[in-house]
Amino acid sequence: MDNEFNFEPRVVEPSVTPEDFDMENDLRPKYLNEYIGQENLKLNLKIAIEAAKMRNEVLDHILLYGPPGLGKTTLARIIANEMGVNIRVTSGPAIEKPGDLAAIITNLQENDILFIDEIHRLSRNVEEVLYPALEDYVLDLIIGKGPSARSIRINIPKFTLIGATTKAGSITNPLRDRFGILFKLDTYKENEIIQIIKRSSGILGIRCDEDGAEQLAKCSRGTPRIANRYLKRVRDFAEVMGDGYITREVAVEALKNMGVDRLGLDNLDRRLLRAIIENYNGGPVGLETLAAMLGEDADTLEDVCEPYLMQMGFLTRTPRGRCVTPRAYNHLGISGPVTGAKETFGQESLF
Ligand code: ADP
Repeated sequence: MDNEFNFEPRVVEPSVTPEDFDMENDLRPKYLNEYIGQENLKLNLKIAIEAAKMRNEVLDHILLYGPPGLGKTTLARIIANEMGVNIRVTSGPAIEKPGDLAAIITNLQENDILFIDEIHRLSRNVEEVLYPALEDYVLDLIIGKGPSARSIRINIPKFTLIGATTKAGSITNPLRDRFGILFKLDTYKENEIIQIIKRSSGILGIRCDEDGAEQLAKCSRGTPRIANRYLKRVRDFAEVMGDGYITREVAVEALKNMGVDRLGLDNLDRRLLRAIIENYNGGPVGLETLAAMLGEDADTLEDVCEPYLMQMGFLTRTPRGRCVTPRAYNHLGISGPVTGAKETFGQESLF
């Protein structure tokens, strides 16, 4: 039975969790040729890097956007390696005051990379200090307080800012305009996730056959971080329950044990679909109502559950609220709605 309440991070959580820490650094590709997928992005990045190197210039500021766990931090580190420069890693919420940013920037060396994760969470007054730094490589600092306060301008080394965000829409226009290069990361195709699983199992010394890798990939929601986490957890399962080898059967069994079904849905995804089916006859129902009913944060439902459920064709968003599709009824083994909700199905009835 699905757990009503669960305070552990979900195994399908795409953001980094404490259990990922020790493994992620070992698994991060270090150079572009080890980075799997995102072909178009890699091509454009290669050109930008080569051009900057040929002209002996600092690389343009880069904004990376896309859902968590797709490889933004990894890419930033790769760019530093490919350029042969240092990288300083921080995040939007960690830079509380303009002085914090000034301290970081004044410690950079020529051509260094400053990586700011969750850049949409920078405060406005920190952002104001960043603008002239990005545009003219200067910092305007206020010295002193009250009537005697004065502004001084100092030159800083030419550097590259790489910003990463999961919410491109939350970035202010002036900040977005200062990035010369914008790259969107997409979720990975199944065959790319299979390659990532094979690469990671090679590094970690995990034995996993073709079918096992394919099954893990199917449930990874197109996200390398989830694929790597499965690999580690399923290895434990395989060692305890068998000879340590990950086959399709072992993968299915281990994932089931973690509450993840054959298509990668976990308890929360299924609770969400069931809540709409059982309480609203398939929908429509508003996000806030759903969140209250499930005792979950509306943002979690919207940013983490819904994109995958929509991608799988289980859920639609309409102006009147969320609706489940016949495909979801099918997947959950529930017979279709009794009355009404007709318009909510629209094209879905074609499946
Ligand atoms: P983000 O910063 O977007 O949340 P990360 O860069 O931290 O994601 O990536 C999460 C993990 O997924 C990393 O440990 C890395 O090993 C793996 N990963 C991400 N993208 C790729 C890729 N293209 N090829 C191989 N592994 C990847």
